[in-house]
Amino acid sequence: MLLGWCSLFSATAAEHLVANKAEFDQAVSAARPGDTIILKNGVWRDVEIIFTGEGTAAAPITLTAQTKGKVILSGQSNLRLAGNYLVVSGLVFKDGYTPSNEVISFRRNKHHLANHSRVTEVVIDNYSNPDRHESDYWVALYGKNNRFDHNYLVGKHNKGVTLAVRLDSEQSQQNQHRIDYNYFGHRPPLGSNGAETIRIGTSHYSMSDSNTLIENNYFDRCNGEVEIISVKSGKNTLRNNTFFASRGTLTLRHGNGNIVEDNVFFGNGEPHTGGIRVINRDQVIRNNYMESLTGYRFGSGFTIMNGVPDSPLNRYHQVVNAQISQNSFINVDNIYLAAGSDAERSAVPIDSSVRGNLFFQQNQRSPFTILDDISGLAFSNNVTNPLTQGEPLKGIQATPITLQRAANGLLYPTDPTLARFGVSAGLVPVSKEATGPAWYDKPTAITPFDSGNIISVVPGDNVLTKAIAAAQDGDVLELQSGNYSVNSVLQIATTLTIKAAANAQVTLYPERSSLFEITNGGSLKLDRLHINGKSAPDAAGNTLIRTSKSGMLRNYRFVMQHCQIEQLNINHSFHFFDAGSHSFADEITLRHNRFANISGDLFRLDKETDDLGIYNVEYFTAAQNQFSDVGGALLKVYRGGTDESTFGPQVYFSENKLHNTSLSSRNSQQASLWLHGAQVSEIKNNTFIDSAKVAVVETLGEPITRLRANRFTNTPQPQVISAKVPKK
Ligand code: CA
Repeated sequence: MLLGWCSLFSATAAEHLVANKAEFDQAVSAARPGDTIILKNGVWRDVEIIFTGEGTAAAPITLTAQTKGKVILSGQSNLRLAGNYLVVSGLVFKDGYTPSNEVISFRRNKHHLANHSRVTEVVIDNYSNPDRHESDYWVALYGKNNRFDHNYLVGKHNKGVTLAVRLDSEQSQQNQHRIDYNYFGHRPPLGSNGAETIRIGTSHYSMSDSNTLIENNYFDRCNGEVEIISVKSGKNTLRNNTFFASRGTLTLRHGNGNIVEDNVFFGNGEPHTGGIRVINRDQVIRNNYMESLTGYRFGSGFTIMNGVPDSPLNRYHQVVNAQISQNSFINVDNIYLAAGSDAERSAVPIDSSVRGNLFFQQNQRSPFTILDDISGLAFSNNVTNPLTQGEPLKGIQATPITLQRAANGLLYPTDPTLARFGVSAGLVPVSKEATGPAWYDKPTAITPFDSGNIISVVPGDNVLTKAIAAAQDGDVLELQSGNYSVNSVLQIATTLTIKAAANAQVTLYPERSSLFEITNGGSLKLDRLHINGKSAPDAAGNTLIRTSKSGMLRNYRFVMQHCQIEQLNINHSFHFFDAGSHSFADEITLRHNRFANISGDLFRLDKETDDLGIYNVEYFTAAQNQFSDVGGALLKVYRGGTDESTFGPQVYFSENKLHNTSLSSRNSQQASLWLHGAQVSEIKNNTFIDSAKVAVVETLGEPITRLRANRFTNTPQPQVISAKVPKK
């Protein structure tokens, strides 16, 4: 019966099940409109698929999996499609990375593009080049009238846009592409520019229209850099997308006449969550919902930029005729107007309107920062709750507002007379479940510490090596009282906690030049341990904890609390923690620890010296620790270059006590804290006795340096050096 139905559907359609590349190539060359080429279930390793053909609107040529999700392209595999009316579905890319510039390309080469073609229900899962600063795209759209929908893209750890719409020839402009119902999952901070989730166009072609529709996509913690979406072309529509706890903004960087409507931004109060940044002419921003966004400056919940008079293509064009209406700004910490105003960016926004918007601040603090003349922004018929800090702007009426969450998950005023302000009642945010292929699970992004099993360990030969090798992601090794001599380097490749059991006295004696090596995929938490270096080799340059020497694709975390670290001084330059080049910590956090008698540096996070805007740590936090008799620096952080596309490094150092630190002649900077190019340096309520100075070198952007309530005894005053380089 099924056969009969099929033959009615198309007299010529054929299905070709293929088991290898040669069979696939043969099937492709023979394919006729309506045919389906089916890849046999299994792992297809190191296969570069070139899928070409000429289907028709009624009878496309399809490439799919025998069972969706059961065809795995791994190793050095990729996919290029070219021709007309092609459909690809059901494939999974994982366990490898593309050998070319793209995982999926909508062209075979410059001359042979795909049009009227569709990629749907395809997975790209952590398919990242192992060198984090080697660039590639996961998806590049060329040609016209293509659709990319219901796909899953998670875990891009290396440089390069996740999905790029390319406009580099006329055949790819005014393309009418549709990008919809995709799940863009966690993208960790790269620690550099070039980690946008979507980019449409480039500055070079930004005066061309793209006419791309981006709708109903879910962006889940897309934290690669300051731009989640970078629009660099004209006449695009970005509609009804959900941005969940994503650091960065939807930026209308270049190009005119874009429409941004019906989008929902849930910041969850997480750091650097932003909304929309407006640049250029004729942009329409309407019916967008923004809640609990904490970002500031160019990463604010809402930003309208100043432009550069007669701007070159790659700088900032003036905002003209922006129409900003019916948006809800609820607990949006910052709204920057005429942002970036300086001697170069002097063209203020003009001929623009702001009307029908709802502003609500639970803390009753005005969110606005106004950096230049905003008389060209006509505010009318907007509403806010009463403020206690700052005045409402002219054109925003203050009135008591009570909000209630509606069935669609969004907050609305309970007072029906206020219903005409903010987003419409009919706005329905796209849900995570509605995006991506239904057959592929969406995981939690990061395994939290202490989320697995607790495994008890008693002292003995190689017990830690064995326990670590057997541990699962999130597990806790609970060490019973005693001394643990460690005669191998402990490799940390999962999220692991090592702690002393309640009331246990635990001391670790490393016997090798390192105790821990954090390798790709590893994160380490230490709790209530004593570590004594007296049994380490009598050689210069021991390092208690280091990251993989070969570079790290995955970001890692290091947390240490209530630990005592001592006698790392058997020889000179015995360091506590050394980050390798091309490693990146999401977080290094120290609380309530004591460090004593250490000949080297404590934290060496200064390995990216090429001045490319790369660095080694996003958040460094140290609170309530004691440091005494440490020869080297407590902390060295370095970020060079001119790029402004990252939030970090961010250093928080508070309530620590330092005594006789960082005075060794081998400490080249002669500083206890040496912070070069950090974006946030907050150093407060610390006590420095007989120690070397704090040195902060401010290099770019608008770095935040807060030095407060520190006490310095026989210690030089902090040095803040401005070494600002021209903006890029
Ligand atoms: Ca960027």
